[in-house]
Amino acid sequence: MARDFAADINDPIAREIVNNVGVWVDKEVKPVASDFEHADEFPEPLLKGMSDMGLFGIKIPEQYGGLDLSFECYSGVCIELARGWMSLAGIINTHVLVGYAISEYGTDEQKNHYLPLLVEPAIRCALTITEPDAGSDAQAIKTTARRDGDDYVINGQKMWVTNGHRAGVYLLMAKTDPTAQPRHKGITAFLVDHDTPGFTKGKKFDKLGYKGVETTELAFDDARVPSTAVLGGEEGHGFQHIMSALEVGRINVASRGVGLAQAAFDDAIRYAQKREAFGVPIFQHQAQQIRLAEMAVKIRAGRLLTLDAARKKDAGERSDLDAGIAKLFATEMAQEVALDAMRIHGGVSYSKELPLERYYRDAPLMIIAEGTSDIQKIVIARQLVKEYPI
Ligand SMILES: Cc1cc2nc3c(=O)[nH]c(=O)nc-3n(C[C@H](O)[C@H](O)[C@H](O)COP(=O)(O)OP(=O)(O)OC[C@H]3O[C@@H](n4cnc5c(N)ncnc54)[C@H](O)[C@@H]3O)c2cc1C
Repeated sequence: MARDFAADINDPIAREIVNNVGVWVDKEVKPVASDFEHADEFPEPLLKGMSDMGLFGIKIPEQYGGLDLSFECYSGVCIELARGWMSLAGIINTHVLVGYAISEYGTDEQKNHYLPLLVEPAIRCALTITEPDAGSDAQAIKTTARRDGDDYVINGQKMWVTNGHRAGVYLLMAKTDPTAQPRHKGITAFLVDHDTPGFTKGKKFDKLGYKGVETTELAFDDARVPSTAVLGGEEGHGFQHIMSALEVGRINVASRGVGLAQAAFDDAIRYAQKREAFGVPIFQHQAQQIRLAEMAVKIRAGRLLTLDAARKKDAGERSDLDAGIAKLFATEMAQEVALDAMRIHGGVSYSKELPLERYYRDAPLMIIAEGTSDIQKIVIARQLVKEYPI
């Protein structure tokens, strides 16, 4: 019997929900995850399970039909989903993040229109920042939205858009004033519906991992949206709104790192007791005990840092420092633990019959997306230096 990791969740209701999700993951996800992954097939039945548990509305306020649970609960849920299959926590990530942006910054009209649709979900959400020439430097985007009477006309190209083909609404970062200085003052966020004329969905990337969920290109060719599509109704706040929502995304990605690493460790510590080498289970070799102990300590640290960041966000505190610390540590840790679990399994880890190779292929996504590890270090250092005025 593995340890009860939901015990780290402080709130009793959240703990029960995380436990229930964990039970569902063991029963419904673990047996089928590698099949879906190897086929790169969208896991429709698993989405239904997540939807039945209300997970798409986990952060949506009750008045719109959502569960309105804490970030601590959300983090615990994402850890459990990723313990089964990292892609599931990815599918929910942009959905929750966009729902959060609408709840926090949307106009009443936007909240009333979109939030009830996101609960079931009748529509799902995607986030579109990245472009061919702008990733880490998001303020370098070239997509423009030009005011034309009561509308905006959008032109540009986006790439690496997760949920890019199946989403119903896209939170789009565009420049309404390309000459603005500082650059972020010219950036506006739009809620773009999937059937907007002039908006087309392009190719789906063939990825190393993070399969099942599609990551795509998008094109905007004189795509026309009403002025009511501006998130919050006012130009020039898009960068700030999206960066705030990315704190939620970083908690999600950190949680994914913890869940993936936990899955790799669970497999490794069981295998180490079954597999014999030199007449004893390999667990009896001290080198393997040390490796497993180091893995366990790093996972524990990642888990606590991630839940700490989630609790800071629950407390309404600015949490880019804590979310950055958690994301940096938990995702780099997941990459290391996935490889260590392969070392413990030896040659069999290289076979697609075991999920080890999936963990290993899934891990690098997390050190790149939602801000690379280098960018997390910059965020952390820039926040910390403010605490040390000279
Ligand atoms: C599978 C997948 C899914 C994704 N999903 C989405 C999505 O849904 N929506 C979306 O908008 N984007 C998405 N992305 C894009 C992702 O967020 C970007 O890939 C990421 O932010 C890095 O940008 P880039 O790829 O342009 O790399 P670049 O910005 O070109 O960076 C390349 C390298 O330079 C380093 N670097 C850059 N600037 C600095 C600096 N100032 N100091 C030190 N080093 C630096 C980076 O750390 C990195 O090592 C996804 C990406 C992937 C792979």
